Amino acid sequence: MVRIIVDAEKCQGYGQCCFEAPEIFTLGDPPVTHPAEVDEALRDDAERAADACPLQAITVE
Ligand code: SF4
Repeated sequence: MVRIIVDAEKCQGYGQCCFEAPEIFTLGDPPVTHPAEVDEALRDDAERAADACPLQAITVE
């Protein structure tokens, strides 16, 4: 499994992650919601979203 962490202190809700990986990230309240873990098949999507985040708020482990 791939662990997804979003730093709520950094995230400003710009939504690029939701655009890059809508199957993982959803804009809402808090600004972005996501499962704590996703299947290995979604690792590339998660990493693309992390790269796209302008605030480097996303960690993929
Ligand atoms: S791209 Fe980054 S700042 Fe924007 S909603 Fe996603 S985690 Fe937050």
